[in-house]
Amino acid sequence: MVDRYAVIGNPVEHSKSPLIHAAFARLTGQDMTYERILAPIGGFGECVEQFRSEGGCGVNVTVPFKEDAYLYATHRTARAELAGAVNTLHFREDGSVLGDTTDGVGLVRDVVSNLGVALKGKRVLLMGAGGAARGVIQPLLDEHPTSLMLVNRSIDKVLALAETFPGIDATGYDGLNGQSFDVVINATASSLNNDLPPLPENIFSQGALAYDMMYGRETPFMRFAREQGAGAIADGLGMLIEQAAESFFIWRGVRPETAPVLASFRAA
Ligand code: NDP
Repeated sequence: MVDRYAVIGNPVEHSKSPLIHAAFARLTGQDMTYERILAPIGGFGECVEQFRSEGGCGVNVTVPFKEDAYLYATHRTARAELAGAVNTLHFREDGSVLGDTTDGVGLVRDVVSNLGVALKGKRVLLMGAGGAARGVIQPLLDEHPTSLMLVNRSIDKVLALAETFPGIDATGYDGLNGQSFDVVINATASSLNNDLPPLPENIFSQGALAYDMMYGRETPFMRFAREQGAGAIADGLGMLIEQAAESFFIWRGVRPETAPVLASFRAA
């Protein structure tokens, strides 16, 4: 029987993961299928059980089930424990379920390898305190930036994160006045609603990278960065493809080349 994988979410019809994993499977000669599963809210566990009973080998997990996936896993990687979220489940032959989060690796690979922006020695600003932000904090710290500042509308959430991750600073948007950063990452859900987080002017230092985790169109944050003269502006398509490659590696033990897949998605 061919090995089966899937992405589970709600909604899930927009997910590009089936196309990305199909491209990886072609490139690496892996015999597998990858489908979309729409799980009802509150029905994540039942959907996963059903997929496993039909021979499923692993799943990616998207909004709003990353915390359900964290709880479903019988074992979790250290980075998933720190993030408090899981986006990859691997159903192992001994019946155990490994939970991991690949978002942070995906972001760092996209920024450092694809965009060629080293994080070492940089002042980094990360906006947001949801699952996406939590998942990338430790991988960003591992790159040894000079500083990592977290900012969020609800300041209590970033203050709590600053206790979990001793290397970071935390503030509300008012606290950003007069400061500038070399890398500014939008990990908020603002772009989904076509909103711009309340950033002050002159937040980008000369040549700064502005990175929005959202992809598919120019977001208000990307427009703001352009108007403010940021040195480079990127969306989250590269992160999406890099985090998928890490999931693929967890399941198949083979690391797909991402550059041709990223190029073909950009062209499309
Ligand atoms: P969550 O819903 O968990 O987090 C929402 C966060 O956004 C909160 O910190 C919230 O602040 C903040 N926020 C929402 N609206 C605004 C606004 N108008 N202004 C300022 N802050 C706002 O979402 P996720 O963390 O799961 O995802 C965040 C983004 O990252 C999404 O756009 C998602 O698509 C993207 N993403 C991209 C990935 C990729 O591979 N490219 C992977 C994962 C996520 P508050 O706490 O104050 O409400």
